[in-house]
Amino acid sequence: MGITQHRRRIFFFLFFLWWDGILFGQASGGREPFSIGTLKVAPGTMVSDFLQVPEREGVGTSIPITVVHGAKEGKILALVAGIHGYEYPPILALYRLRNDLDPKTLAGTLVLVHIANLPSFQKRMIYYGPSDWKNLNRVFPGSQEGTLSQRIAYVLTEEVIKKCDCLIDLHCGDGNEALIPYAYWMVTGDKKMDGATREMCLAFGIKHIVIDETKTKDLADSKYLGNTAVLRGKPAITTESGYLGHTDEESIVRNVNGILSLLRLLKMIDGKPDLIVDPIWIDKYEVVYSKTDGLFFPQIKMGSYVKQGQKVGHIIDYLGNLKEELFAPFSGIILYIINTPPAGQGEPLFEVGRVKPAE
Ligand SMILES: [Zn+2]
Repeated sequence: MGITQHRRRIFFFLFFLWWDGILFGQASGGREPFSIGTLKVAPGTMVSDFLQVPEREGVGTSIPITVVHGAKEGKILALVAGIHGYEYPPILALYRLRNDLDPKTLAGTLVLVHIANLPSFQKRMIYYGPSDWKNLNRVFPGSQEGTLSQRIAYVLTEEVIKKCDCLIDLHCGDGNEALIPYAYWMVTGDKKMDGATREMCLAFGIKHIVIDETKTKDLADSKYLGNTAVLRGKPAITTESGYLGHTDEESIVRNVNGILSLLRLLKMIDGKPDLIVDPIWIDKYEVVYSKTDGLFFPQIKMGSYVKQGQKVGHIIDYLGNLKEELFAPFSGIILYIINTPPAGQGEPLFEVGRVKPAE
């Protein structure tokens, strides 16, 4: 290679670096890539892939996610669906959103966890995971050495909760639950946190909001995904929209619209959030559990108001004998009620919420 040719090559190389810098600078504003699991997502791009949950004793899984890393700076919001694998509208809402989001115009970063509990989705199971019979939303923050549900929780804690600024845990009535839409506002006593999460609830747009002061403050046994985020200083809410394993459009759209409104609240997309103007606050709630195995016969519809002591349903055993009658523990609204026959000892039958009087 002659000296002139060599110089020319160096010139072109330097020119390339300069040109590439201009392009990269325009696309990213000097913004860093977003790292999660083994993925590195460039600013202004969107990637769908899996977070791996390593095998132990031959059992492992993966978690399908999409990262939308906006070209502009902003909040990192995690949207988690499918903690319970039979809760479909939130799952379908996130796949729909994936098609509509534009990383070029998004400010901040979205982590869409499409199906957090893939084993339970694949086996069409309510409440539990198929390999360990654990409820994923009771084992947070999880453990690297634990059962599969505990290891899924661990990956979600390390890779999703710890890397986000705020989070929505999207649920609905499980495959057996007739449920009206509501949100849980987890109240901690920290004014700044409680203000942020209250605003998130109002922006999501669901009218019934449960004021939830019952969550544990134990970091090592925080149980719920949303609570785990809140205890780590990340504002989080839990939403419920959808019921009985249905995939009705109304429930899906309620999830999509709630998320879009929240994106506006967080200034990740343009526009104003649709804040609920007339929320119905639920200041006390109780889940009534079954004492026996058998068949449950509900006699109150979801969303109905009941008086204290009013009969809500009864249970017969497998031979047809009346075993249990269920009554409302206090006056309020039926937030959800089991609408399929199986009743299992220690499992929920219905949840009643007391409506807070207007101030
Ligand atoms: Zn759920």
